[in-house]
Amino acid sequence: MLEKMEESKHERVIEEFEALTKDAGRVQIETLRRILELNGEAEYLQSFGLGGRTDPESYKARVPLVTHSDLEPYIQRITDGEESPILTGKCVTAISLSSGTTGGRSKFVPFNDELVKSTMQIYRTSFAFRNREYPIKNGKALQFIYSGKQFKTRGGLTASTATTHVFRCDQFKNTMKDIMSQCCSPDEVIFGPDFSQTLYCHLLCGLIYSEEVQFISSTFAHGIVHAFRTFEQIWEELCDDIREGVLSSRVTVPSVRAAVSKLLKPNPELADDIYRKCSRLSNWYGVIPELWPNAKYVYGIMTGSMELYLKKLRHYAGDLPLVSSDYGSSEGWVGANVNPLLPPESVTYAVLPDIAYFEFIPLREELEEQELGNTGSTIVYKELKPVGLTEVKIGEEYELVFTSFAGLYRYRLGDVVKVRGFHNSTPELQFMCRQNLLLTINIDKNTEKDLQLAVVEATKLLADEKIELVDFTSHVDLSTDPGHYVIFWELSGEGSEDVLRACCDRLDLSFVDAGYVSSRKVRTIGPLELRVVQQGTFHKILDHHLGLGVAVSQFKMPRCVNASNAKVLQIMCNNVVKSYFSTAFC
Ligand code: AMP
Repeated sequence: MLEKMEESKHERVIEEFEALTKDAGRVQIETLRRILELNGEAEYLQSFGLGGRTDPESYKARVPLVTHSDLEPYIQRITDGEESPILTGKCVTAISLSSGTTGGRSKFVPFNDELVKSTMQIYRTSFAFRNREYPIKNGKALQFIYSGKQFKTRGGLTASTATTHVFRCDQFKNTMKDIMSQCCSPDEVIFGPDFSQTLYCHLLCGLIYSEEVQFISSTFAHGIVHAFRTFEQIWEELCDDIREGVLSSRVTVPSVRAAVSKLLKPNPELADDIYRKCSRLSNWYGVIPELWPNAKYVYGIMTGSMELYLKKLRHYAGDLPLVSSDYGSSEGWVGANVNPLLPPESVTYAVLPDIAYFEFIPLREELEEQELGNTGSTIVYKELKPVGLTEVKIGEEYELVFTSFAGLYRYRLGDVVKVRGFHNSTPELQFMCRQNLLLTINIDKNTEKDLQLAVVEATKLLADEKIELVDFTSHVDLSTDPGHYVIFWELSGEGSEDVLRACCDRLDLSFVDAGYVSSRKVRTIGPLELRVVQQGTFHKILDHHLGLGVAVSQFKMPRCVNASNAKVLQIMCNNVVKSYFSTAFC
């Protein structure tokens, strides 16, 4: 009876989503009207003389497209505690810090109840679709989630990462209960101040409740891979804790110790069982289903820069399906994964038309040749006019722009997406890359996606060596003349010289951008350099970001380190053990 009621609750969520997406064009107009009416008093909107108009045409004609830096002075005044309506009608009382791990610098953005509401809406929507395909019982979830630090800004506003704001609000707990996704670990663990102690306790609590765990998750796939790489090192200590019922001395934070100790009772049978299962595994293949026999899937963001970790994740997950979670940012949500059966490589996100007003700048390369007198001609990319949510075309790439309920108007998020199809009349987007991550020296132009494809291509050569790529990043080295691309690799073992040389050549040849290839041929770009770094180097990069206050839940490895990110570049360069220059194009 209770189960039937639960089911119909989730079916209702699907019905609501279907109704919204069938009428996406009208819902967008209505959403813009609501945003502009709620915030009509805000100084920012007043300055464009909308005069009460809320239609898309007037809005787009008067309010400019902006980036974060255009809004920074306004956000700064809010952060400093000015109480007049600046970006929103109602005063903003909290500020989120975006991770800044992709762009190199944390950004402050307003956070309010509307963002909490849309977060819950997106969680419930994707869960309803997921649960149709992979129904779970009312058990628990082993979630590798971490709350970042909270602090007060000069003006007294609460500042933390968006995920931390969400984990701390009441609606989060209620929603997690409704969607049967309650975390195994007590709150003290999630809110613990020390990342490695929290990770240890998540693993321990996951093992204590191993029969009840219905799925394994973290915000980004990297979090799960990192957790199991750690598990490989500490599993025996976890077994000892369970056998004796005494928590390891490595957990020193009193509140965390007390909360976990309460759950820990001596359980030699469970400890023996885990010990036996782990000893039987071959190179940890399938450890997740082995230890969590009732888990139905592994869940987290697996697209974009997370694709690198899929191979390792599949290894740990054995035959369990991998399901990518949703698409959003500290600034606001975009879309939900409503096709959970798709493998992560093909996942798309259906835009929720009532959570923001969306625009899309086409990235079709409409080129203009400009004559530059004697110096020849140069190519200029013409910026095309943004189109609306229902006007996008399948197969085309766009830069995403949104207007949110939290005071961001025609805001360029900096992400590139491709339209893969439509769910009713709302587009299904594939995440492509961050737009500002560009390897460029002269006329070459390689995005994060191009870099990733080149890396995937080159790592195929490692297969016979039985070693894996642990992580990678890149850098444009202009200290040489001509400048050249540097790719940093951390490997799980030692590769032979021949294979690494071949990888370096393959990397160079796999950047197929015409500007790069022609520059390499005429040597206006030097040979690509592959630098292999010591094991543990990328962990140092994670630690460095944690030290800056980035929450692990939002951490994304920077895929391109530019000279302004001096500390990270220094860590990379100080840990190089081998370096190779490409002999391609010789
Ligand atoms: P943050 O700056 O920490 O708020 O991170 C937001 C950024 O993470 C987005 O702008 C995207 O670049 C990336 N991101 C978020 N969700 C996804 C997803 N589902 N797939 C790929 N990248 C994502």
